[in-house]
Amino acid sequence: MKNILCSKIKTSTGCLPLLLSLATVFFSPVTASGMNCAENDTVIINDGPYIYFDSDALKVKWIENNHLVEENLTIFNFDKIKNRFNLLNNFNDLFNAFLIPPVFRQNYRNVDSIALISDVHGQYDIYTRLLKKNGIIDEDMCWKFGKGHLVVLGDVFDRGGKVTEIFWHLFGLEKQARKSGGRVHLLLGNHEVMILSQATSYIHNKYEKVENITGTDYYNLYSANSVLGSWLRSKPVIASINDIIFVHGGLSVDVVKRKMKITKINRLYHEKIIGKDYSFIEQNQDLLLLTDEKGPLWYRGYFFDKNFEESTIDSILKFYKKKHIVVGHTVTREIASLFDKKIIGIDAGIMYRKPGEMLIVKNGVFHRGLSNGKRIKL
Ligand code: ZN
Repeated sequence: MKNILCSKIKTSTGCLPLLLSLATVFFSPVTASGMNCAENDTVIINDGPYIYFDSDALKVKWIENNHLVEENLTIFNFDKIKNRFNLLNNFNDLFNAFLIPPVFRQNYRNVDSIALISDVHGQYDIYTRLLKKNGIIDEDMCWKFGKGHLVVLGDVFDRGGKVTEIFWHLFGLEKQARKSGGRVHLLLGNHEVMILSQATSYIHNKYEKVENITGTDYYNLYSANSVLGSWLRSKPVIASINDIIFVHGGLSVDVVKRKMKITKINRLYHEKIIGKDYSFIEQNQDLLLLTDEKGPLWYRGYFFDKNFEESTIDSILKFYKKKHIVVGHTVTREIASLFDKKIIGIDAGIMYRKPGEMLIVKNGVFHRGLSNGKRIKL
């Protein structure tokens, strides 16, 4: 395989043009403090739960002090698991994860409050602090944002060591939000598509040890037979709320030239990209564009193309009939507005263990939401 679907075993075959070159240029200090905490063998690994179907039975496995524990999971032992891992969901929600199909049309209107976070990359502590300080969750990690919509703009996977914890929290929070009339939108980033396509080059070294202890490839912990894997396979790559588009990397003019609307992009990703071999993708120009550096999960042109002009973003927004586009993926010092908020970049470096920021949109007014809870008008 080539391009985005490259796995770490295949990187020596020359199949890593985009992924690794971008990572090297823009993200070279991946060894920020705390990101290699599992480097020596004396580090104690705790991880899980991984809940999945096997031979028509629901099973759970987790790692406790470097040892693998596996059990059948039933209504009778679920509370033990729920309490142990602070899960917010109920037993029946585990089954619902297998029943929800992806929704390609993602267009929400009349939403007063929107909060956004992106590129949390396994940094659970920073993620929870930002959500608490910005009024999205309470001290018990439960939904506090009422009818507001929380958008998680991709790249929960990779680099950091608490990916599992973040996904389980979002899994439970999603249901709590709906009960309050709000929503959680988890959008897929390039790292979600990579893991779901068996590319594990960027997993934290803790998860290499998890692979060893479980005897399972990391991507198989998120297989379609698993609760979180099935749930992730229902998530879109692009959505819009009110007059704003949300997508991990960005929408290039090339995507507009091929007249790809939101519904089509989501459909192509789910039906023809995620989990597919590159030999399949390379036969179709639409699929090639969606998975190269001008594709929605990879694009960095807003920030790095010196020839990018305001008239270009005007034509892109006109095609989608929207006023703003919010993206993650490209790290900026703080939440950044380009062309008077026509483009807003919200990846403020959580992957480098910086305090990070959230974008808060209240009645059409944009604010930076800081890690101390302070809000600064954008
Ligand atoms: Zn990314």
